[in-house]
Amino acid sequence: MDILIEAITPTFNYTSTSVLHYQFLLTVWWNQVKIINVVEQMVWEAMDSVLEQKSGICRCEKCQADIVAYALNQLSPHYAASKLGEVLIKTGALDRDIQVSILVALTEAVEIVSANPRHEKE
Ligand SMILES: [Zn+2]
Repeated sequence: MDILIEAITPTFNYTSTSVLHYQFLLTVWWNQVKIINVVEQMVWEAMDSVLEQKSGICRCEKCQADIVAYALNQLSPHYAASKLGEVLIKTGALDRDIQVSILVALTEAVEIVSANPRHEKE
């Protein structure tokens, strides 16, 4: 019996250490400060409404990524330092002009990408 407990105990200790280590890593990740481009977040958020206004636009991952990339190349980045756990940004604080520019860039991007999809047209 003693032998059995000794055999199990190191495993148990290892497991609980792993859980603590995992929790530690999670906390570090959650509080890690990253530089993010707020405009990129806003472009992703605005894309759905732009796509809804147009019919027959491919919504596959490739085309969506191309649309966002094209739009972002038209726009000036706006960087903010944020903890990963707080990536939800108060975009309302940004200039309204930026929001208008985003819609203009996205509309153009949707037209360009849908006319030249990087895959066979369906
Ligand atoms: Zn597509």
